[in-house]
Amino acid sequence: MTALDRYTCEEVFRRLNDYLDRELSPAEMAMVKEHLDTCGQCASEHAFEASVLQELKSKLRRIDLPQSLLDKVGAILAEARLPEEQ
Ligand SMILES: [Zn+2]
Repeated sequence: MTALDRYTCEEVFRRLNDYLDRELSPAEMAMVKEHLDTCGQCASEHAFEASVLQELKSKLRRIDLPQSLLDKVGAILAEARLPEEQ
């Protein structure tokens, strides 16, 4: 059993925001997706994050803000949710 070709839950959590923003490499996207398909805990976390993101985006869209501001808000939120790494 080697974990080298699979992400752990922690690794998936760390990449979740980038996964949602589709900022991962295709290989990383595939690895995260594969983990989400087999791990209920991460899948529900992903679903939660995705719904928060969706709701936020649709709210922001409704009040008609410029895309540059949406991007900025998204980046701030993504940063705020990042676990402290270093
Ligand atoms: Zn997991």
